[in-house]
Amino acid sequence: MDSVERLFRAFPNPESDEAATRELGGSDGRFRKFTVRLENFLQTTSNDPDHAFLKKHAQVAVFGDYCQDPQYFRSKILQLALSKTEIPNDGSAKSNQLRYHRWIGQGRKDSDRPFLPIPSASQGSSSLAHLPAHLMNTQTCATCGSGDAFACTGCLVTLDPGHAIFKTVYCSKECQAAHWPQHKTSCAARKMIGRAAFLLRDLFVLFQDVNYCSNMAQFREKDGVMYVFHKGHDEQAFRGTPLIRAFPRGLTPAEDDYYACVTVGRSGDSLNELKPVIEFFLKATFCPQIEEIQVDPRNVHRPMVEIIEQATQYSMLKTQFMLRVRLRSGEEVAIDLAGTQFGWQEPVGPWAAWETQRVYGQVQSSPIGFSSAQFQQKLEDPTRTAPWHKKVTRFRQGQTKRMLGAIVDTIKKQQPGTDLSIAKFLKLRDYKSPADEVLRAARQALEAGVAEIEASKVMRLYWSATQMGLQYQATDTKEQAKHVPEKV
Ligand SMILES: [Zn+2]
Ligand SMILES: [Zn+2]
Repeated sequence: MDSVERLFRAFPNPESDEAATRELGGSDGRFRKFTVRLENFLQTTSNDPDHAFLKKHAQVAVFGDYCQDPQYFRSKILQLALSKTEIPNDGSAKSNQLRYHRWIGQGRKDSDRPFLPIPSASQGSSSLAHLPAHLMNTQTCATCGSGDAFACTGCLVTLDPGHAIFKTVYCSKECQAAHWPQHKTSCAARKMIGRAAFLLRDLFVLFQDVNYCSNMAQFREKDGVMYVFHKGHDEQAFRGTPLIRAFPRGLTPAEDDYYACVTVGRSGDSLNELKPVIEFFLKATFCPQIEEIQVDPRNVHRPMVEIIEQATQYSMLKTQFMLRVRLRSGEEVAIDLAGTQFGWQEPVGPWAAWETQRVYGQVQSSPIGFSSAQFQQKLEDPTRTAPWHKKVTRFRQGQTKRMLGAIVDTIKKQQPGTDLSIAKFLKLRDYKSPADEVLRAARQALEAGVAEIEASKVMRLYWSATQMGLQYQATDTKEQAKHVPEKV
């Protein structure tokens, strides 16, 4: 048997459900076993046209910088699969794996699933950008089960006039009145959580936009996959590029592209960096339980690939951080503040609909605050966080505080003479203009923070040579970066 085919047979079989979970990223023992296979593969020859590519990356996966990363080699298989114009369906392990990985890379869409049958719940969904309405809304009277005449306006949460996220319907005023004692808790809770989620999502996008700390250079679409190219650090470090600046909106004139690029790869940040703001709003909704959930995304409308120097990152291979919130009524709700990177339009929905439509596998669940504690630990560890990166993170943490301060002040202004109540704010009859006011104040506060560092010209990235070799250093001037090399 050809050595390439033998290598592909070492992958878990994509035709069985078991393989449909975490593959090589799973248990440690499995990864180690696979590493031995890769090592053996390095000794082989083959006529397969992809042999050289696979060998090169097997070398990196076993001995190189990524030898601790179970996902590295998998991301290379995914890269290979996406680069093919056609993958023959000849029953070989290679073709099966490539078809399977191409499917993952293109968004794990139920409709394109190569091996297993399409789950029935997702059939008939019109657009991957929306959760299907039939999964989210009851179509019959909540009291008597007959027709749908009107919706309770108290808890109607809509994405746009045609698309409801939460909707309770009744056939008559009598049925509505009969249902009220039982409905009133859920009615208020849905309205508050819906508004809180949309506002938090908009605040997160705003936060990323103003405090942008990547260096995007280009954006392109190919075969339904979005590619984001970043400028390399070397290129920036010779010129002393500012570490924080506004997102280059000109590169993404279309709104969908902008929303995707500004949040891609940042779902962890949505929970870490926004934690104080999330807690501020969610506390007001009196939810008895809020969990952080990490999932593998499914039915992704816009899968993305980020290319940063030598490293390529696939949004489809990352886990998505989101929240699962239990309302006082017992109803479970999903909140995903960074889902715009997948082209998902709503940041909130019933958990059951979300799970059926957008979750491929649940990787981890933990109480809220778990990932930000881990993140903080990593930040303190000098072997895991470079000093310049720490500087960026500290600045952004300061920006969160500034933003929250502005939000609190604005909400206070809406309630003269009374104590601050977020719950009251989230239940306001006329909510739109106060919510816009909150966003405006948040933007002003964040922009003022960035203007300060711009004016003082701190937080620029330079190269610096140390005894340990070449390192990036964030200093205010080129002179402050010790021993700046002219060229690498
Ligand atoms: Zn009825
Ligand atoms: Zn209601």
